[in-house]
Amino acid sequence: MAKCGEGYLCEVCGQDVGNITDSDLYLRYVIGQLDSEMLHIAGERHIRCNPVLAQFIVDDRFPAVLVDGDFDKRDLDTLHVAQQEELVTRGWRRLQKVLSEGLPVTQLPLPEVRASLEE
Ligand SMILES: [Zn+2]
Repeated sequence: MAKCGEGYLCEVCGQDVGNITDSDLYLRYVIGQLDSEMLHIAGERHIRCNPVLAQFIVDDRFPAVLVDGDFDKRDLDTLHVAQQEELVTRGWRRLQKVLSEGLPVTQLPLPEVRASLEE
């Protein structure tokens, strides 16, 4: 993402998405739900401002997000929820390493996502 002096504003709450580790776009990129080209085009959001995805992050460092309504994970298929929690939580943890380990953006996606991109 090219930074041009001003931050990217969240489509939902209007606040600056100051950090890649807080970015819904990048989280979806890490877990293979967003094409890298879309990183520059799609609207930015905080992870917590996309609760339908954020509810699947299960980590002490991430305040739990609940969804009221149709996509509440408590109403979804248990197996589906378990798979999503595994994937999204792993993706979120990987995203948190970007700053500490200095991963380049192309190395961000989870291993299986990168493998499928290279096919
Ligand atoms: Zn927001």
